[in-house]
Amino acid sequence: MSSWLRILCTSVFVVVGAVITSCEQEEHSESNTETPLPTRFVIHNVNVIPMTERDSVLRNASIYIADTRIVAINGEVPDSVHVIEGNGTWLIPGLVDAHVHGFADIHFGEAYRTQGPNFVVDNQDVMLPYIANGVTTIVDLNARVDNFGQRNEIVKGNVIGPRMALAALIDGGDGNGRIAHTPEEGRLAVRLAKADGYDLIKVYSHLNKETFFAIVDEAQSLDMPVVGHIPNDFQGSLHEAFVPGFSMAAHAEEFAKHSHDMSDADIQRFVAMARENGTWLSPTLIAMQRFAEQARSLDSLSYLPGFSYVHPLMQDNYNRGSNPERVLHLQNTVAFNKRLVHAFYQAEIPIVAGTDAGCSGVIWGYSLHDELALLAEAGLTHYDVLRAATTLPAEWLGISDRIGTIEEGKFADFILLHGNPLENIANTTHINAVCFNGKLVQRANIDNMLLDLERKNDSTKHVYTWKNRKQW
Ligand SMILES: [Zn+2]
Repeated sequence: MSSWLRILCTSVFVVVGAVITSCEQEEHSESNTETPLPTRFVIHNVNVIPMTERDSVLRNASIYIADTRIVAINGEVPDSVHVIEGNGTWLIPGLVDAHVHGFADIHFGEAYRTQGPNFVVDNQDVMLPYIANGVTTIVDLNARVDNFGQRNEIVKGNVIGPRMALAALIDGGDGNGRIAHTPEEGRLAVRLAKADGYDLIKVYSHLNKETFFAIVDEAQSLDMPVVGHIPNDFQGSLHEAFVPGFSMAAHAEEFAKHSHDMSDADIQRFVAMARENGTWLSPTLIAMQRFAEQARSLDSLSYLPGFSYVHPLMQDNYNRGSNPERVLHLQNTVAFNKRLVHAFYQAEIPIVAGTDAGCSGVIWGYSLHDELALLAEAGLTHYDVLRAATTLPAEWLGISDRIGTIEEGKFADFILLHGNPLENIANTTHINAVCFNGKLVQRANIDNMLLDLERKNDSTKHVYTWKNRKQW
């Protein structure tokens, strides 16, 4: 058992011991690290926001969890299960970040045959910011084999972390990775990605039109959703990119880059194209906002919530050049993106919360709450903001029978909040406890783990510099 998991296991008993009203097992000892997790528990006196009906709340409810599932809501509970007093907290489904770039083991520089990664990460450290922020499902939009390894560790129970959907990125041009220059190469890349176990296809900016069409078509025939950039080749003929199977645009700025004047008339054209084709939008407003802040001043980075929990190597990698034109362009794009989201929302095009976490200054877990706040600023009701991070991504992923709502039979992925997020969306940041696949972790223990991670990062900062990464 890893040291982190031992702490997490112990932490579950700290939460049970702290709030329990009747429990046959009073276990508080930090030294007892092998105590099994309680696999069955009931939480009384919680206000459940099930996300099954607009703005509905089940007040003073009880929820019974057994193993990985929600077994009963206000239903029968066996006498022997652990009882947790919810103290009037607010229970919502675990959050989904539909656009991340995960941090995982990697090899920098030239490798000899049989050599593995020369840079390895502690996967529990990597998952901790998601845990701390109630993010129970993530979609990695440029996954690689090491992300499969991470997912396996979570599935095996060695690491507590979110469910992971993994997308294979396909691009054109001269880049690295899966490059396709012809429709045949595009179709083959999709089939190989499917065979390798990827869940989704991410399309990228340098694909030519015919290859893009072939990729979308092949993916559709293999039941793989396609998300991503709108290739530059569609400059001046954007409507052609909206073909059946192109299911979600990965950034609001995918539209911004196809508008010369960033006008409302263009926004309405984009709305019509997306709506007619059934293409959803994951705007990643927070990414553009962070880029704009950093273009003005890199000092903004160090004030970001969660920055100290980012691995020092990535902390060192977060920087960009800037000039007055770039600052102005980014500011204009931030404003355009917000108007675009408002218009898409008015047109009832589904909007899914994604952050682009892993990009400069967009911090895993933490940035999702910033994205939710920006969606609210763009005009979404608080209920619809929650939908964007729960039911809609579950539907888009085709797993709405498993996650996204609080219902009997669903996976036990949920968050306990101190306040009602339907009244104030910022209440999603006031987290009392998080449940991952039936494993409950409470705030005090999350805070302890964060403190340990911050100390660890501080003490190793001098070792990890981005410019030296190929010398390891
Ligand atoms: Zn991205």
